[in-house]
This record gives sequence, structure tokens and C-alpha cells, in this order.
Amino acid sequence: ATFSDFGLHPSILQAIAATGYTHPTPIQAQAIPIAMEGRDVMGAAQTGTGKTAAFTLPILHRLMQFANTSASPARHPVRALILTPTRELADQVYENVATYSAATPLRAAVVFGGVDINPQRDALRRGCELLVATPGRLLDHVEQKNVNLGQVGILVLDEADRMLDMGFLPDLDRIMRLLPVNRQSLLFSATFSNEIRKLGRNFLRNPVEIEV
Ligand code: AMP
Repeated sequence: ATFSDFGLHPSILQAIAATGYTHPTPIQAQAIPIAMEGRDVMGAAQTGTGKTAAFTLPILHRLMQFANTSASPARHPVRALILTPTRELADQVYENVATYSAATPLRAAVVFGGVDINPQRDALRRGCELLVATPGRLLDHVEQKNVNLGQVGILVLDEADRMLDMGFLPDLDRIMRLLPVNRQSLLFSATFSNEIRKLGRNFLRNPVEIEV
């Protein structure tokens, strides 16, 4: 199989071609078609398997229906929220999102703790369809009314096992209550522990399980 077999939007295929990837990795081959259909996914995958593209490419494809060249922030509400446990991972995922969306009009931003909140606030106020965030800093921005999550149609929990290990469950519970119930959710975790399965039962709807 090649990337063109998925039927991804041409602007996304263009970005993939620019990276030099020729073939999807196993997690990509399994997750991309399912996520493109809008189904929930529970994926067991370690770092290094290509899991970031496995969720980012179908998200970008689905968001292309909302692509908007308007400068108005109101025309760029957050449609996809990607939560990660650490600032390093948030930054890495953001770099991937920026690469794969380079040929689209979609906007992306990243927010994480431990740095000045003001530049992040300014980026949020300019508007972004894709937001990569660590849970605590995201809630700070919500409290400051820098961002509204009422139009999030796609949620990703990346490295969900590490988020639980780091004690983010209460923050995740709070964030979920701010999201539309009617949404697509994708959960990725190195392992499927009982806690992860419980998280999946609480936050996902009839997920397809993928293990590589
Ligand atoms: P990840 O598991 O998402 O951290 O990705 C691991 C590394 O594999 C990153 O450096 C990606 O740029 C790279 N990568 C992702 N998908 C592919 C692919 N289909 N072919 C070659 N490299 C890839």
C-alpha cells in the first residue's frame, strides 16, 4: 500500500511527498482509513512507530472541509484538540502537524506549561483549527477565556498511559466536560492497562482497537 491509496486530500499527499515517506507504517496502514471514516480509535503504539502521522493525517483530511482562508479568528475555531503529557511531546506533535498541514490553509497552535502564557494567548486569539496542548496549561487558557472548546469535533489523547501516570486524570475529566459529546476521539497508549481501558470506556464511543 502507498499513501495515495487512502484517498487523503491532495494538499496532505503533497506534504507527505515532501517528507520523503514512501509507505505507511503498520499503525498508519491500520489507523488512517478508520480515522478518516470518523470512527473512534484505541491504538496501542510506542513512540517511533509513526503514530503521530497515524492520527494527524486523517485529522487534517477531515478538517479540510472546514478550511478557511479568512483572516478572522472567528472563522478558525478549534476543531481538533491533541492532548499530550509533556511539553516536549507537545512540541514534537506540533512540528509534525505544521509539516503535514503546510500546504493547507488550516492553522495550528501549541500550548504547554513552564513558559510565558502571553504569546500562547495571542496565538489562540488569532484562531487555530488544530490545538496541541498539555492538560494543565490548556485549562489555564480556558479559565482566562483565551480559547473555547465548544466546537472541538476531534480529540486525541496521545501517550494516554503517561498522562495517567503523571496524574492528569482530574484535568482530563475537566477538559472532557468542555467538549461536545458528539465528537470523534482517538486514544493512543503504549499499553492497554485496566486504567487505560477504563479511560477508553469513559471517553470513547465504540472504538476500533488497533495494536501493532
Ligand atoms: P512517531 O512514532 O510518530 O514519533 O514517528 C517516528 C518517526 O518516524 C518520525 O521521525 C517520523 O517522521 C517518521 N515517520 C513517520 N511515518 C513515516 C513513514 N510512513 N515512513 C517513514 N518515516 C516515517
